[in-house]
Amino acid sequence: MSTVKSGTPAAAKPGTPAILGIPFDANSSYLRGSAGAPWEIRSAMHSSSSNYWTELGVDLGIEGVFYDAGNLKFSLRDAFGCIEHEVGKLLDLGYRPILLGGDHSITLPIVSAVGKRIPNLTIIHFDAHPDLYDELEGNRMSHACPFARIMEEKYATRLIQVGIRALTGHQREQAARFGAEVIEMRALPAIDRMAVDGPIYISFDMDVLDPAFAPGLSHREPGGMSVRDAIKHLHAIKGKIVGADIVEFNPAQDISHMTAVVAAKLLKELLGKMLV
Ligand code: MN
Ligand code: MN
Repeated sequence: MSTVKSGTPAAAKPGTPAILGIPFDANSSYLRGSAGAPWEIRSAMHSSSSNYWTELGVDLGIEGVFYDAGNLKFSLRDAFGCIEHEVGKLLDLGYRPILLGGDHSITLPIVSAVGKRIPNLTIIHFDAHPDLYDELEGNRMSHACPFARIMEEKYATRLIQVGIRALTGHQREQAARFGAEVIEMRALPAIDRMAVDGPIYISFDMDVLDPAFAPGLSHREPGGMSVRDAIKHLHAIKGKIVGADIVEFNPAQDISHMTAVVAAKLLKELLGKMLV
């Protein structure tokens, strides 16, 4: 039922990024498996096939530049409560959390913790899907719904959605209702749209990538971003990044750990971007 490792120290330097795995996929509507992602991403990140330098020139191999809080242990009965509690604890200790999913439903309790502490939040959301359904198959907490709940609760002021290519009529209406700024895949690149005022939370659904680059997905949606497109957009973000998640990598669908390596690369570039 806990937690960030007991005795988690306050961040030596305020704003130190802290990784926390959330092995939860109970709100995935089509396939399970993303709960296994945190272990796979770490294994790829620490593999000797690469090194700890990021493209922006940050050495993640230096002790203390980021903190790894391990994986969350939670009760299935109150998974969202546990997630919000632990993310809140990391924020209160001075960390900037990076959560490794898990399915995309976890972004609701994460952003609940962030939004209650940090006002005027902008979310930059990379995804093939807008995840704005009012409900899916009777589940309002589905991984297809988190951004509807987030905007209803006003945990964020702005929602910028990048790489969208599976819009339904209902979700177009929802996007208009919430004032979501939808940048469809066919309109990319949108490098100049990555500069925002105020604090930024990045939510990165791995299925924004073309399945040719990232086959380890629950929902493969062809016609997506290349890994390079994604890194270019991440690097172009201007503003203070206060937290992030990488979700929906499904190791059970992966081929030869390809997607694990891509997720680890994006994690490294995200860490580098936060530290540069
Ligand atoms: Mn999603
Ligand atoms: Mn998606």
